[in-house]
Amino acid sequence: MPANCPLCGRPPSGIINSYTAQEVAEFFTSRVLGQERCDRMEAILHRLWGSDTVRVVRCDPCAFGYADPFVAGTAEFYQLEAPDTPYPRDKWEYAHTLRRVSDRLSPEASLLDIGAGKGYFLSRLIDRGWKPGNLMATEFSVSGGEAIARLGVECRPTDVRSLDGGGRRFDAITMFQVLEHLDGYDGLMEAVARLAKPDAHLFVAVPNGDRIAFNEHNGLLPDCPPNHVSRWTPKSFQVFADKYGWTLEGCELEPAPTVAGEAVYGAVNRFIQRSHVRGTWARAVYAGSRPFRGRVNKAVKALGVATSPDAWGAAATVARAARGGGGVPHALWAHLRRAG
Ligand SMILES: [Zn+2]
Repeated sequence: MPANCPLCGRPPSGIINSYTAQEVAEFFTSRVLGQERCDRMEAILHRLWGSDTVRVVRCDPCAFGYADPFVAGTAEFYQLEAPDTPYPRDKWEYAHTLRRVSDRLSPEASLLDIGAGKGYFLSRLIDRGWKPGNLMATEFSVSGGEAIARLGVECRPTDVRSLDGGGRRFDAITMFQVLEHLDGYDGLMEAVARLAKPDAHLFVAVPNGDRIAFNEHNGLLPDCPPNHVSRWTPKSFQVFADKYGWTLEGCELEPAPTVAGEAVYGAVNRFIQRSHVRGTWARAVYAGSRPFRGRVNKAVKALGVATSPDAWGAAATVARAARGGGGVPHALWAHLRRAG
């Protein structure tokens, strides 16, 4: 029996995708870059799911998608998948949240950033006069933790569900590109409630669920569990807020992407997707780039993208969709306020 919806408890409305552990292992640890590593990934996935397959299912009443089994990636999954995740220095949701935060809170306020990456959002707050001593972060990666410590912000390498804030409570809590990686919403929101002041703000950004569907429809990289285990829409944030006693004060999509940005995104993304398919040009380029490191490795792949008709085709399709501001936004942002 498929798992019921983690938001409303109903049985799923239908299946979006189904993958074997072998297929998913290839997506996260390509065989062309080492068979042994890919085999280890497959074993991790088997253990995680207790089966050979995972599905992505949808709940229509919640306009929500979730992995079945609904289990998040473990530390060993992430260590093998991407030992040092690159964090973008700037994201739309940072500037968007900064504006909202500045309207509502003074720089004397306190804030907890859950899964803070390298602390780029925190450093923007500090630039605006927020006190490092009033800020706190959780982050598992060592490089992230070190970067945050250099800002003078206390960072704990723990899951927020087991975070002991020493009785501290925060005016605002942020989770940027974190929620889609997590299961166990009851424990998460219990911890958030414990760490939030009675009228606290919660700012969340996730990938836009409609964008994931658009990518998959256009042959770009599929969004496989267990990296992301949920797909969000404004409707699902409303259900989420209601369920945990928060008010949804705002839910906004990132502005539509530009035609030029989408052309690059479409080409690169399609190329990576093709690199996971045997016998393709993209896969040959990946195999050929293996002996090279750093910038040379990137240059080989860039040349591969530039000479791939398939990548050009995807670039044209995705860019065409973005014409006239019709592109599908990449990020979805929500502002929740604790009720009462
Ligand atoms: Zn539901």
